Amino acid sequence: MEHVMKRRDYLTWEEYFMGIALLSAQRSKDPNTQVGACIVNGNNIILSTGYNGMPKGCSDDQLPWEREGGFEDTKYAYVCHAELNAILNSDGRSLADSILYVTCFPCNECAKAIIQAGIKKVIYLEDKYPDSEATKVSKKLLAMAQITLKKFSNPSFFADLSLYK
Ligand SMILES: [Zn+2]
Repeated sequence: MEHVMKRRDYLTWEEYFMGIALLSAQRSKDPNTQVGACIVNGNNIILSTGYNGMPKGCSDDQLPWEREGGFEDTKYAYVCHAELNAILNSDGRSLADSILYVTCFPCNECAKAIIQAGIKKVIYLEDKYPDSEATKVSKKLLAMAQITLKKFSNPSFFADLSLYK
């Protein structure tokens, strides 16, 4: 009698959670940058998700999506980043010792929130701006707080699915 074997090409946990971060990014209305995040506990249970967008109740039709101009006229003054939204969307659950999956390396502002939330590990898909001041400060803070950083091991997996280029 032939023995039926289980599937071998199922998603790894890392692919699954980064996939959810990438799918979350597709909710963003930002015309230039779509970032997604997914926070998971030690039992591989999803605690929260987020993407970059305007604060709740603040119209993303009225606020600017510009990247250049005066302080009030660019998106930077208004947009909540994916990581911060994921932290704030956890509905009061503790994020202590959790893992953050994020499609882009966190900025220094998000690094502060990641540290204060008790997240212990960050797995990122890409590090687009390694030379920016925000990334340098972020890496300094995350290292001081002993948060483990890991680049996602298999980015071509998502490129093949056209979820990521
Ligand atoms: Zn950020």
